[in-house]
Amino acid sequence: MKFITEHDPEVGAAIEKEAMRQRGNLELIASENIVSEPVMMAMGSVLTNKYAEGYPGKRYYGGCQNVDVIESIAIERAKKLFGCDYANVQPHSGAQANMAVFLAMLKPGDTVMGMNLSDGGHLTHGSPVNFSGLYFHIVPYGVDDNGFIDYDKLEEIAMEAKPKLIVAGASAYARTIDFKRFREVADKVGAYLMVDMAHIAGLVAAGEHPSPIPYADVVTTTTHKTLRGPRGGLILANKEAAEKFNFNKAIFPGTQGGPLEHVIAAKAICLGEALKPEFKEYQKQVKKNAAALADALQKQGFKVLTGGTDNHLMLLDLRGMEVSGKELQNRCDEVYITLNKNTVPNEPRSPFVTSGVRIGTPAITTRGLKEEDMPKIAECIWLAATDFENKADYIRAEVTKLCEKYPIYE
Ligand code: PLP
Repeated sequence: MKFITEHDPEVGAAIEKEAMRQRGNLELIASENIVSEPVMMAMGSVLTNKYAEGYPGKRYYGGCQNVDVIESIAIERAKKLFGCDYANVQPHSGAQANMAVFLAMLKPGDTVMGMNLSDGGHLTHGSPVNFSGLYFHIVPYGVDDNGFIDYDKLEEIAMEAKPKLIVAGASAYARTIDFKRFREVADKVGAYLMVDMAHIAGLVAAGEHPSPIPYADVVTTTTHKTLRGPRGGLILANKEAAEKFNFNKAIFPGTQGGPLEHVIAAKAICLGEALKPEFKEYQKQVKKNAAALADALQKQGFKVLTGGTDNHLMLLDLRGMEVSGKELQNRCDEVYITLNKNTVPNEPRSPFVTSGVRIGTPAITTRGLKEEDMPKIAECIWLAATDFENKADYIRAEVTKLCEKYPIYE
């Protein structure tokens, strides 16, 4: 970092400040994590200089012998980790992976069912402001009043809408997703099933959430959430679907140009890490911490949507409390706790204000925090929500103690 600051003081100073922020804050954003130094270094390596349009062994540029090796390692590791026959490691992001799948499987105007954004779905699952909602006919499904996916209603909607594609997966859902049930609904109405496991990919890799691979025609994911890799995406499938839909063509030349080989190298390293036994232990701890934190938050007096969590995240339901999601997010920012506002079912406030917050444990678990640390975090969030003026200094001091106890990037 010093090297960057000497070369470019303006950018270097901002990077150094961000490193300080990450060291001194408790990162509770459910979609974030803290990568290993080798993953980070691969992203800053000479590979950023290389153009490699195409795929290993079939490139449009010379000099690709080394990136071919790296990309092939990433592909093989992805297939091994998730137990599938096909992997494309080139998507620049989760959104790019989803766009390519839509391009490969659908025609503009086709009917797609995805989870409502306000119920926990992702923008790329059919939001009107996203390509998915702009170019396809979206029929959304959602959660019941308690926050659980309403599978009976989903089936009813599918029977009526006869979608060509059903998208399962979410950005803010705390419970196990029943992929078998999704497959049954898809089969009943003759739809393809795509699972976007971005949030839970690390749990799936470690066997801590049922795998969608046996049920889905295609699976997409990001690599930077629970999977703890660089920012990016993957497309995974079994042989039959990979042969039927040309996902490779949909990525390049369909929706992307040259692959980011420096990021692909970081993906390969992350996938290698995920194949190690320690990764299973890490994911187990992510879940244990989430369960302990949900429990402690409820003991403090918060309502947790669905009454708890099966995975790495939980949603606080602030309906009935004075503080909004936005206000709690802002207050937490001031006391070194990072989380994000989130809508709740039948949201009474605007989506910019919200009556909920989303909290996840992947990053704090990477730091080394354990179940016994969760009551302190719950107390800090409760005080931020209920007695901020008087307790802000106390919270800052407690958060700083935890960050110093579990340092990162020393
Ligand atoms: N899919 C889901 C379920 C997500 O939660 C996200 C990101 O939050 C994405 C896709 C998009 O990933 P990216 O931000 O890499 O485009």
